[in-house]
Amino acid sequence: MASILLIEDDPAGAEAMRLGLTRLGHRVRHRADGNTDLAAEIAETDLILLDLGLPGADGYEICRRVRAVSAVPIVILTARSDDVDTVAGLEAGADDYVVKPVTPRVLDARIKAVLRRTVALPQAPQAAAAAPSDTGLDIDRRALRVHRDGVPITLTPTEIRLLLVLSESPGQVLSRQQLLAAAWDQDYLGDSRLVDAAIQRLRAKIEDDPSDPRIVETVRGFGYRFVPPR
Ligand code: CA
Repeated sequence: MASILLIEDDPAGAEAMRLGLTRLGHRVRHRADGNTDLAAEIAETDLILLDLGLPGADGYEICRRVRAVSAVPIVILTARSDDVDTVAGLEAGADDYVVKPVTPRVLDARIKAVLRRTVALPQAPQAAAAAPSDTGLDIDRRALRVHRDGVPITLTPTEIRLLLVLSESPGQVLSRQQLLAAAWDQDYLGDSRLVDAAIQRLRAKIEDDPSDPRIVETVRGFGYRFVPPR
């Protein structure tokens, strides 16, 4: 059972989701817009279901506001999966998306998959924390903490998993499908845009210049590569 904050302005859609998820054992609080004390709400929330098109502050803005204070998982509700909105939502910090209308059972499965990723971080190997590299990035695999030039970096569970998987195989190119399988879930039905958006968010936090990445490189046509520290 999860404590879910549902932010959705369509009353009928919201009520259907609230009822369905409540029947499946979740606790759901519904807000029709983002004009709420988000920091207080998040303290009681395991996961946020967020509609993108909202009156007032839209879903992207809310995503950014939440990410400024919290790594709580966010799943965006979108009208079409091929929508550019979906990508923009993922780039704003959402962990995943579902396409409306969605049955409670499918929504429940997606919520559980996202929460599983959040708690079940990869097993940290026995090796001690790596010495800070010339990139200034220090990944403590046991404590699951990342520092850049000595300053702690707040990463969401999705971003930490991705960084751990990439840095486990320095110098090796990993395809988007490999990353999806390793950092998301074995048989996860997500698409590779989740990977691209998470890489972009990760770079914004760990790279000096995210437009000229030196730590996580794009290998055009193949995927991504963690540059071995010198
Ligand atoms: Ca809406």
